[in-house]
Amino acid sequence: QLHNQLVELNGNIRVFYRIRPQLASETDNQKPVVVIDEMDNGVVHVSNTTGTRKTSAGADKVIPTDFSQDQIFNEVSPIITSCIDGYNVCIFAYGHTGSGKTYTMDGPVTMPGINQRAIMQLFETAKERTGDIKYDIKVAMMEIYNEKIRDLLNTSNTNLAIRQTEEGRSSIPGLEEVSVNSAEEVTETLARGRKNKAVAATEANIESSRSHVIVRVLVSATNLITKATTVGRLNLVDLAGSERVSQTNATGQLLKEAQAINKSLSELGNVVLALRQNQKHIPFRNCQLTRILEDSLNGDSKTLVIVHLSPDAKSLNESISSVNFAEKIG
Ligand code: ADP
Ligand code: MG
Repeated sequence: QLHNQLVELNGNIRVFYRIRPQLASETDNQKPVVVIDEMDNGVVHVSNTTGTRKTSAGADKVIPTDFSQDQIFNEVSPIITSCIDGYNVCIFAYGHTGSGKTYTMDGPVTMPGINQRAIMQLFETAKERTGDIKYDIKVAMMEIYNEKIRDLLNTSNTNLAIRQTEEGRSSIPGLEEVSVNSAEEVTETLARGRKNKAVAATEANIESSRSHVIVRVLVSATNLITKATTVGRLNLVDLAGSERVSQTNATGQLLKEAQAINKSLSELGNVVLALRQNQKHIPFRNCQLTRILEDSLNGDSKTLVIVHLSPDAKSLNESISSVNFAEKIG
């Protein structure tokens, strides 16, 4: 099977780069700063005209700038299918604000991203499987802002708690889980979560890029004869922008927010690194992001981090810091 092959080749953790195209607003007099040298086996060079330069060879794959949403989905679809077999999967979009994370995960309505395509593919695969197994697909959507968990499919849940179950798993009691049965229901559910996120951000007067958004898909497979059920979880995570907010200028709410984001992104890096190195103690408990995902990152789980880079010259330092993150975990 393809996904087993990928696991053997690369372990359970993979790092991709995606480099978005230059936007019309960026083309005035700036040359792109992120260069992919495809002759050099997909090595990423981040550089500008004054010579600041960073080269990375750490990634498992570089998604070329001209790749369509469909083409990038083809690259990730094998690990998504593994959820049907009860595996847990996490896909993270990492990068500074404006680097293309939301485009990759959510995408424009006319060119949907990984979230919608992944859920559709799970439907298709479940339909193709014959035999005595009944599949049930549910979707939950949540946002972590300042370490608070907000339910994006039930707006009355503004501060959900994480509990440990008796088996030592983490769960979020009260989180809304919506059964989806058709393409329309998937689109409608994701749109509702997106709208709730925007409304909440406006009400609280915060930038919507300052929170982590998790779309969680639960795929349960029940054997109709033995009644045994396995559940695979797919977590699709649009991370908060990785840009460093100046700690000297930020005060109050903004400072707290920046610290929460910095901490959770670096804790995520620590967890992924510890998993990759097969360390005995994995520091899951240090922030809400890794606590929520503990079950889905542990053991047999499969993790993909898509590090986003923009070719924009103004983002050079942020791009270099994203390459550093990729190299650390890659
Ligand atoms: P982020 O979520 O990281 O802040 P966005 O996804 O909002 O970034 O992308 C920033 C801008 O770049 C948006 O206008 C988006 O439409 C555009 N963009 C991002 N990735 C691509 C891409 N692969 N192709 C075309 N436009 C893109
Ligand atoms: Mg975004």
